[in-house]
Amino acid sequence: MLSEVVIAAAKNSQKRPQTSNLTVSTIFPCPYNIYRSFVGWGNLPDLEGEEILNMENGWWQEEESIKNLKRAGIIIENRQLEIEVGRSKRKGHIDGTVTLDKVRLWEHKARSMDSAQRLREVRLDRSPDIKAQVNLYMKGLRESGEEKFKALDEAIIYIKPKDTNTPFDFIVPYDCDFADMVVEWVDRVILEGWKPEPKECPFCPMCYMSEMCTGETFLDFKGLGNWSNDELVRRWRLGKQYSDFGKELVEGTRSIFKAKFEEKELQAGDTLMVGPLRVKKYITHKRSFVQDKFVKKFGALALLDVTEEQEYPGYRIDDTEEGKVE
Ligand code: SF4
Repeated sequence: MLSEVVIAAAKNSQKRPQTSNLTVSTIFPCPYNIYRSFVGWGNLPDLEGEEILNMENGWWQEEESIKNLKRAGIIIENRQLEIEVGRSKRKGHIDGTVTLDKVRLWEHKARSMDSAQRLREVRLDRSPDIKAQVNLYMKGLRESGEEKFKALDEAIIYIKPKDTNTPFDFIVPYDCDFADMVVEWVDRVILEGWKPEPKECPFCPMCYMSEMCTGETFLDFKGLGNWSNDELVRRWRLGKQYSDFGKELVEGTRSIFKAKFEEKELQAGDTLMVGPLRVKKYITHKRSFVQDKFVKKFGALALLDVTEEQEYPGYRIDDTEEGKVE
């Protein structure tokens, strides 16, 4: 009842601009996209109420992230600082900067679980829009005349998955050639009246305007390999079915044994015989790193000195025809 009103009010609150205001955050690294974004894509439909609510939610999520960082002793500075790039003086507003061992750009992204997971796995490989945005922000800062930004060469992309609220972040180095190339395209379109034609490029599958551009929606097949082996698929499905069922049986009985063991007030080293099954409780001692204690003693910032990123490859197999066994 109330929700329909909220969605309708959100839709009414904002119209998609029909004329261009090409800002740094809207630049997609393709000459034709830049040109069309500058002259306007024509009569685009208004944003839906749900889209506006989602966009606004991103801003609130950023506030939350700022508070979480502050609690850890990390201050985001220069929030919404205006920068300019190129001869055409395209403007943008950065999310902020953060100074730890050196000053870096800080870019916040609140994302759904799927989208956050994709960023975690492939970083900016499939997000040319974010790649352009942060590189142009870094270029703007480096050329702002501020001494402290002259050598800025990294951005921290700080992701807040909306479903779990457990953030993660990664560093993106400044790509000078990429930033200069994109700014050159922007300047040529705006200052020299360049009208590039659409030309298929590696970024087309990730382009939000692909349908407007070509009349087609590209499917992103990058990173999708194919191999055919029906026998292995059959074996995997069968094994998975047995193992799922087996795991359920084992875990179910294990928890009953555990409860019975505790109910009889048996201790570690004691034995409970259940027919031929021997149930024993044992305790292993391991030294482990207790992050909470470390943070209490040395502060959250000290974690940065003792943690480093490592890659652990893993493989997940999902059945795209769930439930099928042949
Ligand atoms: S679909 Fe490709 S050519 Fe068209 S605007 Fe997007 S990136 Fe550029």
